Amino acid sequence: MTDRKDELAANLAKVERRIADACTAAGRERDEVTLIVVTKTYPASDVRILSELGVRHVAENRDQDAAPKAAACMDLPLTWHFVGQLQTNKVRSVVGYADFVQSVDRSKLVTALSKEAVRTGRELGCLIQVALDAGESGRGERGGLAPEGIGELAGLVAEAPGLRLAGLMTVAPLTGEYAGREQAAFGRLLDLSTDLRRSHPTATMVSAGMSADLEQAVAAGATHVRVGSAVLGVRPRLR
Ligand SMILES: *Cc1c(COP(=O)(O)O)cnc(C)c1O
Repeated sequence: MTDRKDELAANLAKVERRIADACTAAGRERDEVTLIVVTKTYPASDVRILSELGVRHVAENRDQDAAPKAAACMDLPLTWHFVGQLQTNKVRSVVGYADFVQSVDRSKLVTALSKEAVRTGRELGCLIQVALDAGESGRGERGGLAPEGIGELAGLVAEAPGLRLAGLMTVAPLTGEYAGREQAAFGRLLDLSTDLRRSHPTATMVSAGMSADLEQAVAAGATHVRVGSAVLGVRPRLR
């Protein structure tokens, strides 16, 4: 356990340094960027250690994995972000622990999240997941919707009881015009965020950047980076 704490502390320090350096390079203040540690596939004991080390934001992408972990960590001062593709039959469980759902990408999900937030008397922060590689279908392979759909969905979230439109999220595309061009992709997300804030000025969160591309995200203006393997180690390829 002590070894694990040392390991996580060292990894966290490295990531912290990378974020700080990226902020300096971009002429941004360090406190403009929030680190969210993605704890998926790692145990609740790691979440507890991260909390002891000062982490305040964690993210998960599968409810089956996240729900018991969040329950085991209820006493910790953590903000929970859900970042995975979300089926409506998991909404009840997710709203039980998540403070933010970053993967809102369709109206049916907005309706379900709203209903459950109202039922439990919670206010849920919602980010619209943008697929910069969406094909003809208007949807991304790993969730998200095409930029053209943002305005309409944002309007639905903003009007839905129990939900607060918090901003936009993306994952750098592996295919399409932005493949291998992370900074251009994140720059596009920032432009879309600027557009969104004309009609929804409080939707200020821009969630972009992971272990491999957090520097590009900070350079482009992201407010939140989601870092998993650089802090916790490389995940076994289970999923
Ligand atoms: C797993 C995951 C991350 C973190 O990825 P790493 O490469 O491990 O840093 C970020 N965002 C989402 C949506 C994820 O599923």
